[in-house]
Formats: sequence, structure tokens, C-alpha cells
Amino acid sequence: MVRAAILPAVGSPLEIADIELPEPGPGQVRVRLAAAGVCHSDLSLSNGTMRVPVPAVLGHEGAGTVVSVGEGVTGVAPGDGVVLNWAPSCGNCHACSLGEVWLCANALAGAGDVYARRPDGTDLHPGLNVAAFAEETVVSQRCVLPVPDGVPLTDAALLGCAVLTGYGAVHHSAKVRAGESVAVYGVGGVGLATLQAARIAGASRIVAVDVSPEKEELARAAGATDYVIASEKTARDIRGLTGGQGVDVAVECVGAR
Ligand SMILES: [Zn+2]
Ligand SMILES: [Zn+2]
Repeated sequence: MVRAAILPAVGSPLEIADIELPEPGPGQVRVRLAAAGVCHSDLSLSNGTMRVPVPAVLGHEGAGTVVSVGEGVTGVAPGDGVVLNWAPSCGNCHACSLGEVWLCANALAGAGDVYARRPDGTDLHPGLNVAAFAEETVVSQRCVLPVPDGVPLTDAALLGCAVLTGYGAVHHSAKVRAGESVAVYGVGGVGLATLQAARIAGASRIVAVDVSPEKEELARAAGATDYVIASEKTARDIRGLTGGQGVDVAVECVGAR
């Protein structure tokens, strides 16, 4: 038995309860979670904006230590630190064949699986594949990536969603080049990762925009060269900072719906 935060139904609050996790089957890995972030997608799943089969254990931004492995698992061994990957690529679909593995059509194929049960026998689904809001989880070996020694698992957890999202937006989608200017709307987990990715890309001017003045210090530590409080004149403020031109790239990281 392990404790987990269960979404019993769309629109219901999460419920902390014991669940029965099976031992890992062929190709599966059991992981003891060290840390899990709360992502906006967890909220979207719990309120029905995004759909997965329920009851489910949500949580998809996590890292932990391998407890045991099933038959045929060769990539990791008990004791290894791993980051969970909620969108593993299949390697066979059209997107994967083009090398665009982040668009894999089969990434969420496991969301409908029954991965654990309540003590009364009720089926539980693994949210976005990895069910990280629990003390332990059992996932496909495609959902674990070894973490190099010396990387704290609490930091590695962020690599599971926010960091990849921000980095991918800057380096894969927008393909920011050195010298370009970037505006980042929303300084949450994804926004902070986007600011860092823009700095890594060599962006010249990096303008963070948020409604909260309290985020400024964090934003500047992550790479923002300027900070704008969101208002009706945000566009004018940004033009003012960029010689009247506006930015080359704007990344929206608010996700309000
Ligand atoms: Zn996420
Ligand atoms: Zn694929």
C-alpha cells in the first residue's frame, strides 16, 4: 500500500488515500517519488478542461528513485535516480518518423490503462502516464530517464514538465537566435524556464511580463533583462523598451482558460 492523491471524478477535490500498487511487470519500473510539481495541466485535468479516464492519480512532473524493475528492463536499476517522462515517444508514428518526438501521436496511449487499485478493488488510471502524486508509482520503462549523480531529485522533477516546455518553446518552436528579443508572458514554472531558455539562446532583450510585482526578483534571476507589470499598456511598454520595434518572439506562458 502507498498513499496517493486520487481524482475521484472530474470537478471533485483530490482525495488522499491508500492504493494498492502491483509489482512492476515486464518492461515496467517502480519508483519512489522524491518530489512532484503541481502543473497547470493538473488543474485542467481535475476541472475537465483536459480529459483523462478517472478515477486517476494525477501528477506528471516528478523525480524519484527506482525501487524495483520488471523483466526485460535494462536502462535503469534499483537505486538509480530518475526523472519521470509523461509523454514518452513511441518511435513509430508519423511525428516520430520525422524526428518530432514531442508531437508523438501515441504519447498518452497508456492514460486509459489500469495501473493500480483502491483496496476495494476500484480501478485507478495513471493520469498523464506517470501518477506522480503518490509515494510510489509503477510506470513503463519508457517513462523514466536516469538522472546524473549529483543532481538533486527535487530539481530534476522540474525537468519532467516546466523546464522542457519552456526550453522547447524557445529552442524548437520559436528557434530563438542570438541577439533576438523575447517577451515572456507569465512568470510561473513554465515562464521561468522560458526565461532561462531565452538566456541560453543568447537573446539580447528578455522582457518578463506578469501581474505580480513579487515575481520580479525571480524573473531577473532566471534571465529577464526587463520586467513589466501586465496592464492595458503592456504592448506600449514593451515597444518602449525595444526602440519602438516590439520583440522578435513572444511566448505566452499564462495558460488561462
Ligand atoms: Zn505539466
Ligand atoms: Zn510516436
